[in-house]
Amino acid sequence: MKKIIVAIDGHSSCGKSTMAKDLAREVGYIYVDTGAMYRAVTLFAMRNNLFDAEGNINTERLEQLLPEVRISFKLDPETSRPMACLNGEVVEQEIRSLEVSQHVSPIAALPFVRAKLVEQQQAMGKEKGIVMDGRDIGTVVFPEAELKIFVTASAEIRAQRRYKELQAKGMPADFDDILKNVEERDYIDSHRATSPLRQADDALVLDNSHLTIEEQKKWLMEKFNEKTK
Ligand code: C5P
Repeated sequence: MKKIIVAIDGHSSCGKSTMAKDLAREVGYIYVDTGAMYRAVTLFAMRNNLFDAEGNINTERLEQLLPEVRISFKLDPETSRPMACLNGEVVEQEIRSLEVSQHVSPIAALPFVRAKLVEQQQAMGKEKGIVMDGRDIGTVVFPEAELKIFVTASAEIRAQRRYKELQAKGMPADFDDILKNVEERDYIDSHRATSPLRQADDALVLDNSHLTIEEQKKWLMEKFNEKTK
């Protein structure tokens, strides 16, 4: 069967990664969560005190230190799911905190950060057989991807999902803070100068506000089969 690149883009917390992970597992493709890569750089910046009290980034210092930042993925032996690593250390849990979510969009807006991560993402997809999710996969990372999906859902529904996810992991969660964060990230991600979040002209749109995980899985599988047969 023909190997393809599947690019899944969309707003924050709209269930992209669940869809992407399920599809990759089902069809034996590699799954790459590019949001985890931007989150890992953000954690690095936080650990190195590169944010001031107002949330401004010391961009000069970050640019100097960036060559030291190595992001990789390692499979969790129990769940077989990929875990993000920062310089070899598993940071999967830490990068999902609300604090990282609150700092990540300005980091992801920096052109030198994007240049480094996009290059790594393109190298990962060289052999195809990959499902990648993010904000600019179908527009910038793989404009030639055979299957492009743009996922969306209302901000309230997305905040509700993120709230439940954090609660289930026993992490602190306040619905209003999460909703505010989802809306702020939508705004910054869609309005930044470099690679803003936008739907690729040839992307298929999926509004999953009222779909179950099973229903969206089936929808995606059908689209995948159409492209690979
Ligand atoms: O997908 P996730 O919500 O984990 O992504 C975290 C943040 O990383 C997004 O809000 C966005 O600012 C940034 N991002 C990006 N480009 C990508 C993936 C994520 O700018 N390809």
